[in-house]
Amino acid sequence: MKNLTRRDFNGLMIKGAGSAALMSVTSLACAMGTDQDKKKLGIALVGLGSYSTYQLAPALQDTQHCYLAGVVTGTPQKEKVWADKYNIPKANIYNYQNFDEIAKNDAIDVVYVVLPNSMHAEFCIRAAKAGKHVICEKPMAISVKECDAIINACKAAGVKLGMGYRLHSEPYTQQVKQFVKEKTFGDIKFVSAEAAYRSTGNPDQWRLNKKLSGGGALMNMGVYAVQSTIYGTGENPISVSAQEFSTRPEYFKNTDETIMAQLEFPSGAVANISTSHNFNANSMYVSGTNGWFQLQPANNYGPLSGKTSNGDIIEFPHESQQKLQMDDFAKHVLMGEPNKAPGEMGKRDMMIVEAIYTSIAKGGQKINLDLAPGFGFGGD
Ligand code: NAD
Repeated sequence: MKNLTRRDFNGLMIKGAGSAALMSVTSLACAMGTDQDKKKLGIALVGLGSYSTYQLAPALQDTQHCYLAGVVTGTPQKEKVWADKYNIPKANIYNYQNFDEIAKNDAIDVVYVVLPNSMHAEFCIRAAKAGKHVICEKPMAISVKECDAIINACKAAGVKLGMGYRLHSEPYTQQVKQFVKEKTFGDIKFVSAEAAYRSTGNPDQWRLNKKLSGGGALMNMGVYAVQSTIYGTGENPISVSAQEFSTRPEYFKNTDETIMAQLEFPSGAVANISTSHNFNANSMYVSGTNGWFQLQPANNYGPLSGKTSNGDIIEFPHESQQKLQMDDFAKHVLMGEPNKAPGEMGKRDMMIVEAIYTSIAKGGQKINLDLAPGFGFGGD
């Protein structure tokens, strides 16, 4: 039994062109000129809920190319707590009302939006208009229309836009992409992907409120399963058919509880995804003409774990996925390295999510997708 190590993987890292082509030459020169003078980018987190508190802020203590420079919060009590804990100057602390003044603050280079989904578009657009690079949490927004508005605002302002898709920066997912690209297990024919957890908490939480979340399990966890099928096949899907299941309607009043969907890909590969707020599941299985590989878990904060039909165990040393992700984005801004999770990737996923909801609304009818090529492997 052979262990695949980081050393095996390092030599095979995917390199590609950045998304600089999206920016005008002038705006690119402007943005790059300022940023390249800096060694580390200052990040401001917008929304100090659990993901910022327990994942992003701690990760930002270990990042090499960016650091926690500021915060934006709607809760005044959090200002002092965060200022004391992370030594953040008062001048770098904003609330939702005075946020736009961040434009004048040179200590902040990147705004990272970590708010409920329906607030992503507003704050990403305000950040872009303030001339700041933007990282947007998943799902990108609550509609394709909003994704377009974010992308257009960033293009117009000449700032970079990245998604908080941490898996594109961690080694297990890179290994999956490499297996697919190099056809290690032949031509991919089938992917099964599951991303789900059982929700039993406060029924009034924003994730179960459609106005704030845009949808239930599919919006929250389903994007991971959709992504698994894309990097598991190396293709964007050409159709989806979907079904919704409900067993606790009193708890899931206006958001989806469980969704299953089947996706077809241009090569003829097919995929099945399950996503739910009613059961726990976290895996991906990929079957090719010469064997299979799987990750389980496939999409939590790690360490992930994998194995293949060759008897190999896929194993890498654990590092914070959020640290790797934010450093990758900073390297994109500072050094022109590839944008591993560009805004267009977030928009593509929202197009698939909308097609899945459309299929359900039409009783499971197959919905054809016409997606632009690319963004299957992230940035290339
Ligand atoms: P959370 O509920 O813990 O925090 C939400 C924050 O938004 C809180 O600080 C809250 O005060 C603020 N907020 C502002 N207006 C609000 C309103 N009207 N209702 C509720 N909260 C409001 O949520 P979270 O888990 O930190 O998630 C935030 C975002 O990050 C979501 O988009 C989520 O999908 C994403 N997320 C991503 C990952 C990942 O692995 N990439 C993990 C967790 C969350």
